[in-house]
Amino acid sequence: MFQAFLIKYAEIAIKGKNRNLFEDALLKRIRKALKEVDGSFIVSKTRGRVHVEAEGDFDYDGALEALKKVFGITSICPVVVLEDKGFDDLSERVMEYIDRQYPDKNFSFKVNARRARKNYPMESMEINAEMGGRILERFPEMRVDVRDPEVKINIEIREEIYLYSITIPGAGGMPIGTGGKAMLLLSGGIDSPVAGYMIAKRGVVLNAVYFHAPPYTSERAKQKVVDLAAIVSGFAGTIWLHVVNFTEIQKYIYDKCPHDELTIIMRRYMMRIAERIALQTDCQALITGESIGQVASQTMASLTVTNEVVEEIPVFRPLIGFDKQDIVEISEKIGTFETSILPFEDCCTIWVAKHPVTKPSAKRIRKHEEFLANEIDRMIDTAVDGRELWKVEEHESIRVTETDSEE
Ligand code: ATP
Ligand code: MG
Repeated sequence: MFQAFLIKYAEIAIKGKNRNLFEDALLKRIRKALKEVDGSFIVSKTRGRVHVEAEGDFDYDGALEALKKVFGITSICPVVVLEDKGFDDLSERVMEYIDRQYPDKNFSFKVNARRARKNYPMESMEINAEMGGRILERFPEMRVDVRDPEVKINIEIREEIYLYSITIPGAGGMPIGTGGKAMLLLSGGIDSPVAGYMIAKRGVVLNAVYFHAPPYTSERAKQKVVDLAAIVSGFAGTIWLHVVNFTEIQKYIYDKCPHDELTIIMRRYMMRIAERIALQTDCQALITGESIGQVASQTMASLTVTNEVVEEIPVFRPLIGFDKQDIVEISEKIGTFETSILPFEDCCTIWVAKHPVTKPSAKRIRKHEEFLANEIDRMIDTAVDGRELWKVEEHESIRVTETDSEE
């Protein structure tokens, strides 16, 4: 029954001169999202809103699901598009619409007409009054409330007539591409996919890096990370995923450094490598899924020691003040939870000490890292240069070899 969507956005409307930029990014993202949906769509903007019109038959549920994942949209109204065949015909269509959409008619309403085409023979106020009266006559259980109606019956007179009353919440945030680009440290856990989602929601394009340690971590653990990236890319758009072989470095640390400091030293090398790849790929920040006190490596002292190795860009930790339960709720909402809890080892769980330090001393750690001086630079180069690159999209993830084909 619906042939169009009216799309509203709030935050981006207030951006002054940048408004066009934001609107164009939003249109681009909407078009991209709808490409995967059966049907053909025309996407256009008029003051403060975006119109999506379907040409002929289309997959309504699919289109709605796709639109719900586009950051920058605050709400989506499915629209019935009517040919103008006079007011009597219009009011019949309105009655049919109400009857179908609202089997239970015990609610308050108001008619809200807008005349974008001025040659329509009735003014908005007249339409409101006349249509309101006819509705009450037909459905006496309904009642008018012009101040705070439960349902607003919107009638917009354009070349055709737009009829809508349902508002579906959108994903919020800012359109992808308006906020720069950042490198997500993506593990197979619950937290990092959520962290990536949250930064992407602010309009940031994501790249990701995953450290794996074959044969200690399996191909399936890697595939799980690719799958998680694919789910996040449903919101974030294409994610270039860099898979770094961390085995040699991890073993070397294990051989040379005190075991209670393993995790923290490992985390420092992950951060260093992530920063290096970030700088090579024009990413302006790192993103992690850390939150204060969640594990030994995430105490304030540990975070400080991990943080100090990143030299040129900020590290964003969007979950820093979140409880695990809050993070789980978001991961369920965005659809990563089920995949995150699949029981494959990730490289951090294999070499964990029984009693990791919770108050590491930066000085001691730096001193112990000197035990690695002979080989570590070469190992880092080997790991960075030999990394695998994946182009991850919601419906298809492919391994590519060249690193220069990035968005
Ligand atoms: P997550 O649920 O995201 O795995 P976690 O609670 O297991 O987090 P840690 O293992 O301490 O926490 O990792 C903290 C952060 O470091 C992760 O959120 C992620 O950003 C990054 N990280 C950890 N392991 C890896 C890995 N193998 N590859 C890439 N990033 C990682
Ligand atoms: Mg983890």
